[in-house]
Parts: sequence; C-alpha cells; structure tokens
Amino acid sequence: AHLARIDAVDEKVHAFLHVDREGALAQARAVDEKRARGEKLGPLAGVPLALKDIFTTRGVPTTVGSKMLEGWIPPYDATLVKKLKAADVVILGKTNMDEFAMGSSTENSAYGPTGNPWDLTRIPGGSGGGSSAALASYEAPLAIGTDTGGSIRQPAAVTGTVGVKPTYGAVSRFGMVAFSSSLDQGGPCARTVLDAALLHEAIAGHDPLDSTSIDAPVPPVVEAARNGSVQGMRVGVVKQFRGEGYQAGVVQRFDESVELLKSLGAEIVEVDCPTFDLALSAYYLIAPSECSSNLARFDGLRYGLRAGDDGTRSAEDVTALTREAGFGPEVKRRIILGTYALSSGYYDAWFGSAQKVRTLITREFEKAFEQVDVIVSPTTPTTAFAIGERADDPMAMYLADLCTIPTNLAGNAAMSLPCGLAPEDGLPVGLQIIAPALKDDRLYKVGAAVE
Ligand code: GLN
Repeated sequence: AHLARIDAVDEKVHAFLHVDREGALAQARAVDEKRARGEKLGPLAGVPLALKDIFTTRGVPTTVGSKMLEGWIPPYDATLVKKLKAADVVILGKTNMDEFAMGSSTENSAYGPTGNPWDLTRIPGGSGGGSSAALASYEAPLAIGTDTGGSIRQPAAVTGTVGVKPTYGAVSRFGMVAFSSSLDQGGPCARTVLDAALLHEAIAGHDPLDSTSIDAPVPPVVEAARNGSVQGMRVGVVKQFRGEGYQAGVVQRFDESVELLKSLGAEIVEVDCPTFDLALSAYYLIAPSECSSNLARFDGLRYGLRAGDDGTRSAEDVTALTREAGFGPEVKRRIILGTYALSSGYYDAWFGSAQKVRTLITREFEKAFEQVDVIVSPTTPTTAFAIGERADDPMAMYLADLCTIPTNLAGNAAMSLPCGLAPEDGLPVGLQIIAPALKDDRLYKVGAAVE
C-alpha cells in the first residue's frame, strides 16, 4: 500500500531519492515467513520506514544528496540500519536531503528540491525534508532523520509531524555520513508521539563502533509516551525565544500551548538564557569547521566521483577538479568558512571563541534545568517559507535554526510536535520540548500529554 502511495504522489512531492521496491517487498515477505514459522518477530515487524539518505545501506545507493557520492553503493549497513532490520522494519527507500545535511529547506540537494505536502510551492524544511515530507504525504508511517542543528525538528515543525533529536550519543553514528561529528545525531520521525517513541527504542543503544556512543540504558521513552502527563511538572519558557523575526501566528499557537500545559497541571517558569542569542553564530563556526575536516575525505580518490582523471593530471589537480564538480555552493561555502576559522592566526578568534560560547550555553541549560523539568519554545520562528525565497540569502536561511541550535550545542534532547495551524497562512506550527541529557523520556511524557 505504501509503495502504491509513493507511485501515486512522489512524482509531485519528491520525498524519495531512491525507492527500494524489491528490497522492501523482500523484507516484508521475510516477516510474513517468520510469522508463518511461528518465530518471534521484531518490535516493529512489517512497519514501512523512509530512511534519510545519509545512512549507509548495504547494496542500496547512498548519496547524502550530493553528486560527490552519486552511484556509490556502500558495502556495509550503518548500525542504525542493522537495528532497523533486527526490529523487522521494512525500509522503503532513501529520502531527499540538503547536500551533506547542510541546509534548512532541502533546496541544497543536488537532485532537486522536495515539496511540502501542505503546499508544494513551499519548503518541507531541511536538511531532512524528504523524511518529514514522506510522513506528511502518507508515503511512510515512520522515518529516520539526523539533527546537527535542527534537521529533524525543523522539518517536523513545518510539515506538521513529530521529530525527536535524542541526547547526543544515544543513537550510533557508525555508518552515518559525517557532517559535524560533535553535533550529529540520528533520531526518529513519525506522525504521533507514541510512534516516535517505538522507533526511538528500536534505534537507540550503545555501539562500540561509535566512540561517542553513550554506554547507558535507553530511557523509558515508550512507557513515557503511553503515560503522558505534566501534572506537577515545572515547565520553562525561555525569554529569548520570541520577539523580532517570530511570525505572529507561531507565537499565538505557542502561547496557547503554554496555556494548555498550565491547564493540565504544569507550573510555568520564565527562564533567562542570554547566551542563546549567540548560539547561531557559534554553530555556524563550529559546524563548518568540523565539516571542513570531515569532508576532506572526498578527494576523488577514495569514494564516488572522480573528475578530470585523464592520465595527464596530478592527484592534487584531480582532487581539486572533483571537489569543484562534486560539491554544491553551500557545501563549498561551509568548507571555506571552516577552513578559515581553523587556520592558524584565526583559530582562537573564531573557532576558540565559538567553543567558549558553546560551554556557556551548556552551563545556561544546566542552570535552567535546576529550576525546571523541561523547556518549551516554538520549534521555528516561522511556518514553511516558499521554495526559492531564501535560497540566495544564507543568513535568512540560517535564521530558521534559531530555536533548535542551542540544544545541539549542549548535547541534550528535544522534540518537535504539531501545535496547530498558523491563522495567517493555515500552515503547521511546531512546539519544541527540550529535556536535559539522558532524560529523553520527559519529551515523550510531555509530548503525549499535549498531543
Ligand atoms: N540548518 C542546519 C545547517 O544547515 C541544520 C543542519 C542539520 O541539522 N543537519 O547546518
């Protein structure tokens, strides 16, 4: 049924870069056979899923939305993919994304943009716009995203779906193409809080193949999602997450959510986090710096594209020509920015300062979580903007990440879930819930109460 739905609508939505029809049917049949043999089935047996094209899949193309890896067939599965298979999930295919997960609109994909199912002339968010669009268009009931600076939560917000960035280190990065390793985090996308929790439980857990993987039990997210409540909880509202740049209808729906929390028995506490105003600047130094180092491996010699290798050129020239041809403008911008911020003489002024800001933000969260159990905010300052509207203005594009980025810098957990439609444009608004590191279950408890 989901493959038929993809056939019917994906020409317009373009959520998928690759539909693995045969693989999906084979996995579905394998589940049926297991059931017929009376074998124990995985917790998500037979449930179809759309996978962001940033995770390596054995025998199935993985492009990361880039020409650099066009035609590359990975020889191995990411740990997350292994876990999905062990849960008996049916992987429908790979979803569109901003090239190397750099962007907030999926317009930076080398394979063309994805449309927002609510209005195909608008962006579905980014970088994981394909995964969230697949959910909103009913092409898949579950999806996987990655969130380095909001790429699960912002697409969830603008498509009216649920997305969770687990605590940093909760989901293995092994086999997830690296963008900014100290920030990158895979996580679940779904249409309900409970669905997201079931997927969260299936993909989280310690992995010795990822040196930053947390060696601790997965928080009881499913139990929390089944027992939604905010009774007696202290909920923080950050002073800094409103004002200039926030759309009136987004603020209105957010204020209504705060009222709802109050009526359900939560105590609302205003928290002051002045360093959050610096988060965007710090992120857009740290993420490009790490990207410039991570993407050095795309040299035209080891993986994917090789340009200009006609037998007369040096390896250096082949590398340069490959990068010129293989990377899109945003990726080049990040590599140049990051290389500059890390270069000797500038390191302390740029990268060093950004790291100090990161520490201050982490401390401010710690201080806030001494007063409150969770923090809430709008997920994004505006609803989905038009395709093309911000494409030539990187600064305007980066503003979409205003509320999501502090959490990535601090490494704690956050969810976005729908909280109504903005009156002025009828488009979905996202409510963000933020919890301390390792307390991911609180997101689900609160999310299920207000859903
Ligand atoms: N918009 C952010 C960026 O472009 C989000 C990246 C992400 O979370 N992958 O860097």
